[in-house]
Amino acid sequence: MIPYAFTYRRAKSLDDAEAMLAASPDAKLLAGGQTLIPALKMRLANPSELIDIAALEALRFLAVRDRVVVVGAGARHHEVATSPEVRRAIPALAELAGSIGDPAVRQMGTLGGSLANNDPAADYPAAVLALDATIKTNRREIRAGDFFTGMFATALEEREIVTEVRFPVPERAGYAKFANPASRYAMAGVFVAKAGPAVRVAVTGAAPCVFRIPAMEAALAKNFSPDALEDIEVDPGEMNSDLHGSAEYRAHLVGVMARRAVETALR
Ligand SMILES: Cc1cc2nc3c(=O)[nH]c(=O)nc-3n(C[C@H](O)[C@H](O)[C@H](O)COP(=O)(O)OP(=O)(O)OC[C@H]3O[C@@H](n4cnc5c(N)ncnc54)[C@H](O)[C@@H]3O)c2cc1C
Repeated sequence: MIPYAFTYRRAKSLDDAEAMLAASPDAKLLAGGQTLIPALKMRLANPSELIDIAALEALRFLAVRDRVVVVGAGARHHEVATSPEVRRAIPALAELAGSIGDPAVRQMGTLGGSLANNDPAADYPAAVLALDATIKTNRREIRAGDFFTGMFATALEEREIVTEVRFPVPERAGYAKFANPASRYAMAGVFVAKAGPAVRVAVTGAAPCVFRIPAMEAALAKNFSPDALEDIEVDPGEMNSDLHGSAEYRAHLVGVMARRAVETALR
């Protein structure tokens, strides 16, 4: 295969990255490279410039402030999974990060890269949507409900950079996924979060984009127990069907994972 040329640049600061993006409309940010590098190898992306933000310490932090877990876009999955602060505040978020891919992927992959990519089977979108997190960029703040707009699509505009994500600490939360045994991506993953009387249920892996299930949320708001979900049918109509599983199989998995997520949240 004939290689194609691109220019590699390493940003020294967020301002530097913004200036580089402004100077080259066709440039792409490179964070952990766990999605972008394979895409380049497969010729699915062909940018003229790669702007490496992986070394920006300003994006690589974790903090808990006023009952909000704040995670820098450059935080690696491994850092979120093993952070004592995150484990104490939102154990389900740490568990989710620890279930992503394999150790090599978790050492390199970042929260910002995962959200910007919005793979239909990625884990983080379920936590972001269920916890009603806020995504902060170099320009604005975006509520989780407005961020994920479709398959591999988000509300991010050209040259917009995710800088941090703020996760309000819930009363209880749990995540359960049925992982593809090869990649560990979710065939179906359900994140359940209870904050006061409100319950949010977000599903990843089953459809083209992460989504909520209002019927489950209403049932759990009345009775936060796996039994509350027993009679709720999950509609396979909008679900993915591929060589890994049919739409009906995924719909069944969503019900099972939702009950397991509630069990985890109750532990
Ligand atoms: C073998 C394998 C298994 C995996 N399994 C899982 C899994 O089980 N669950 C899961 O969720 N994911 C999984 N992944 C994906 C992994 O989580 C990646 O880390 C993630 O999708 C992308 O993060 P990254 O930091 O590597 O981003 P990159 O690959 O560097 O970038 C991805 C995209 O995001 C853009 N981008 C990066 N950072 C920013 C930013 N701060 N602001 C705006 N745009 C940005 C880039 O320009 C690019 O378009 C797997 C990947 C591999 C290779």
